[in-house]
This record gives sequence, structure tokens and C-alpha cells, in this order.
Amino acid sequence: MFRLSQYLKEIINPTPIKPAPKMPGPVVIWNLIRRCNLTCKHCYSISADTHFKGELSTQEIFDVMDDLKTFGVPVLILSGGEPLLHPDIFDISHRAKDKGFYVGLSSNGTLIDENNIKAITAVGYDYVGISLDGLRETHDYFRRSQGAFDKSLRAIRLCQDHDIKVGMRFTLTQDNVREFPQMLQLMDEENIDKFYLSHLNYAGRGNKNRKDDVVHQMTRQTMDFLFETGLEMLKAGKSREFVTGNNDADGVYLLLWAQHHFPDSIEHLQSKLTQWGGNASGVNVANIDNLGNVHPDTFWWHYSLGNVKQRPFSEIWLDTSDSLMAGLKQRPRSLKGRCEKCNYQAICDGNTRVRAHQLTGDFWAEDPGCYLTDEEIGV
Ligand code: SF4
Repeated sequence: MFRLSQYLKEIINPTPIKPAPKMPGPVVIWNLIRRCNLTCKHCYSISADTHFKGELSTQEIFDVMDDLKTFGVPVLILSGGEPLLHPDIFDISHRAKDKGFYVGLSSNGTLIDENNIKAITAVGYDYVGISLDGLRETHDYFRRSQGAFDKSLRAIRLCQDHDIKVGMRFTLTQDNVREFPQMLQLMDEENIDKFYLSHLNYAGRGNKNRKDDVVHQMTRQTMDFLFETGLEMLKAGKSREFVTGNNDADGVYLLLWAQHHFPDSIEHLQSKLTQWGGNASGVNVANIDNLGNVHPDTFWWHYSLGNVKQRPFSEIWLDTSDSLMAGLKQRPRSLKGRCEKCNYQAICDGNTRVRAHQLTGDFWAEDPGCYLTDEEIGV
């Protein structure tokens, strides 16, 4: 995850470079349930509106939560499927809050309404992320559900009315890129706190739709627009947060963009981006799926590091006998191809390994999703 706003702020108001705080444990994205009321085109978990066998029981979820807390995990992002379909979602969420986790809820928003907003508010979620893939027609097409856009927007407004920090999550594809400026406008008009731009990843349904992925030029134009909009909002004193995910080359691209627009800030920005260090899968990001399998991130569902029903998460996470885990935890990573020769490996650290693996069968091959030219990365 790339916290763009943080680095745009560094361009305008540089802050001293201090040693980076060490994360006590990874952020855990937890797919509590695979059931979903929608069947979205780009869903990585290929969910459906049906019960999936073998999912963790609520007691097992509580036990895992205890282990995560002892291990030092600071953040739980409760996801799905659609997490609100879990019959014990509120018990699970309250318990997570009581244990002191920062708790996020990642929802499609269609099930948030006047009937449950009080219960949602009572949890005290630190953040609720709601997916919007475009304007009404596009979103409903992506979500394969008429009326989904209106329901999700209603959910955002309800959360705002109840003082819940809420953000929109937008997965960029060739089919919705033309609406990207309007999505940022919607964010502004609706006073939405946070915008998460997710690049389409080659996994789950995303893999089957590889040919639909935006071409690299489109990604670059989108990022240019995002940088400019983020900066404008910052200068206007609007407190908006922009975050991107699934393409750590975004950090490098910001540096290259700043070279043209803010040449005086380059040295400082480069130091800050190097401190960030790029891809965190298997290190500061973890995923537990509905069955209890642990993965380096949400796009490695075909690759299990172990199951929390058999071994505690804390043991699985520290076990580097698995070659993928050992390689992900190595700094710098042992990369190949363009990533090995890239001048900016210290910022990006090879980006998203699952894309390299799916295309070549090699965990450490260059990331095919890198949208920077050879000249730009010094190859
Ligand atoms: S070549 Fe690899 S390391 Fe360099 S920016 Fe692209 S993905 Fe990142």
C-alpha cells in the first residue's frame, strides 16, 4: 500500500527524516467469510451467495485473534466475501476493538442501511472502506447488480452521518478509467475522507480478465491525474487521503513526476520513499482466508503458508522454511530481470511478486505490471 498523500505532503512541507518505526506485526487482512451477495467481475476471492464449507467458527476466530494480539498485530481489516453477511460480525468486531486492534471493515456497502447503521456505529470501526468502481451504470455493471451504486453511496452517506471515517475503493480497469476524474469529483463533492485506488491484480477473476487490464499508458495518465488532484486538494487545505495498492511502482513514478514538477524536493522525497521501501507482502501485510489459510497477501490465495487450525499464525508467519516467505522477508529481495537492474529497487522492492509468478512460474522474475520504461528505471 502506498500512502500517496503522505508523500505529497513531504513535497510541500518536508519533515525531518527520522529512523522508520518498526511495525510490531503485520497488518492482517482477514477474509472472515467467502459468502457475498454480489459476484463482481474483478473479485479476487471468487465469492458467491452461498455458504462455503470449512470456514473458521466464531470461537476459532476468537482464538486466532488472541494469538494475533499476543504476536503484536496492530491492525485487522475485516473483509470477505461480504463481512456483514457473517452472522457474528458484530461480536467479532466488538471483540477486536476490545482487544485494542485498529479495526477496519471492508464492505461492498450494499448491506449497510438504516437497520444496521446503529450496530455498525456501536462497534467504533476505525475505518470503513466501501467499493465503488465507477458511476452508476459502470458500477452496477461491474457488480452485476442493478441499484448497487445507489446502495453503496447511501452506505457512505450513512457512515458520514454517524461520524464513521469512510473511504471509497476504486479498482482501476480499462472499462472504468474514463470515469476516474468523475470519481475524484464525487469524492470531493461528497466530502469522502479517503480514496483507495487499487490497480487490477492478476489473481482471482482479475486473472481471467487480464486482457482487460488498463494499458501502461493509461495507468500513467491516471497516476498523473491523481498526483495533481491530490496536490490541489492539499493546497486547498482539504483533508483528503489518497492511497494506492497493488503496484508499488507508484512510489517510483511519483519520484519521476516530482523530478519534473518539484526538482528541489527530489533528494528529500527519495529518502522518504526509500524509508517506505515498497512492497510489504509477507512482511508488514498478511492475509488469513475464510478457511484459516495464511497467505503473504490477498492475491496469494493459491499459495498457503499454513493453516491457523493446525498452527498458530505467529508460528506460521515466522517460519521461513517456505522459500516464498524466506524470499519475501529478505531485504533487498533477490530479484531478476528489470527489477534486479532497476535503479529504484530500494523504493519499490520488486513490486507485486504474484504477477511475476503467475506469468513466469518464478517468484522472483520481473513484475510484468511495472509501467515504467527501461530508460526511467535506468535499464
Ligand atoms: S522495475 Fe521492478 S523494482 Fe523497478 S520500479 Fe519496476 S517493478 Fe519496481
